[in-house]
Amino acid sequence: MPEPLFNRLAIIGIGLLGSSIAHAVRKTNAAAEIALADHSQDVVDRAKELDLGDLYAIDSATICAEADLVILCVPVGACGAVAESIGGVLRPGTIVSDVGSVKEAVAKAVEPLMPEGVHFIGGHPVAGTEQSGPEAGFAELFEKRWCILTPSEGSDPTALDKLQAFWRRLGSDVELMDVKHHDLVLAITSHVPHLIAYNIVGTAADLESITRSEVMKFSAGGFRDFTRIAASDPTMWRDVFLNNKEAVLEMLGRFNEDLISLQRAIRWGDGDVLFDLFTHTRAIRRGIIEAGQETAEPDFGRHHGAPGSSPVPGKAGPESD
Ligand code: NAP
Repeated sequence: MPEPLFNRLAIIGIGLLGSSIAHAVRKTNAAAEIALADHSQDVVDRAKELDLGDLYAIDSATICAEADLVILCVPVGACGAVAESIGGVLRPGTIVSDVGSVKEAVAKAVEPLMPEGVHFIGGHPVAGTEQSGPEAGFAELFEKRWCILTPSEGSDPTALDKLQAFWRRLGSDVELMDVKHHDLVLAITSHVPHLIAYNIVGTAADLESITRSEVMKFSAGGFRDFTRIAASDPTMWRDVFLNNKEAVLEMLGRFNEDLISLQRAIRWGDGDVLFDLFTHTRAIRRGIIEAGQETAEPDFGRHHGAPGSSPVPGKAGPESD
């Protein structure tokens, strides 16, 4: 087992991401001690039962005073409040990071609350599922997935190196990005696709001429895959859209323009437009498989007779985020 990179890792928020980090750190010995906090007593009790760490608390500040790495694993909209509650106890030299799906709003909310000598560097492991809570986590979540770190111009290079080493130890490839660019890239690759899934499932639920049981019965025609994404955590995704408003609206504008072109092609029977686009998008899907970010198995690797089953334990199909 390699030497630990940190003495005490404090994880705030013991949901899918927090518990997966705890499992992965245990598996790879990335930190000598794992301390976990969540504002819900039930969640803390469950984390103890699952033996996710070494120390547990309801009050985040109590586990952060002795930590040399703190990772905020709470919904994006809660990061500022958590930073406020721990800011006063952090020791100089401590690295504070997060896993939030939006980076500019988190940096704006957290960075000003960090005391002198504490290094905040935002992070986003681009890995997830539609599951939430402490039971949902698994050690392999980050393996062969990208983790985007968003240092600012003044970020401490040693702290950045240590944080990169941490994510590499957990099995991720690390990419550095500016916060604004991150938010734009994720708007089109994650946030808008989630909005489309939420919307199409909502539209189907509201249809009057087609019954709900028909929608469910024939869902394997494509709808089922949207329902998986649309089952993602409502709090997390509400916060994503409220905190990445500009980039999401920009990408939605582009999406709407392209949708109108498709509408026009269908109306005027322009098969070439449809065929060319579908050929191009098929190549994109193949590129994602070649990049190792998706399974090449038909039907997303679902096993016959076991809807939603997946080759990876604890993971119900492809990424959610
Ligand atoms: P989750 O499973 O819902 O876990 C979040 C946990 O944080 C919950 O137990 C929640 O408790 C707790 N919490 C909320 N506010 C808190 C506070 N102020 N103090 C302490 N604990 C608090 O969510 P998740 O899926 O792990 O997501 C966590 C973060 O990771 C989000 O920022 C999300 O954007 C990001 N992310 C998610 C994914 C994904 O696929 N899920 C992937 C990459 C990144 P309550 O539920 O009781 O409020």
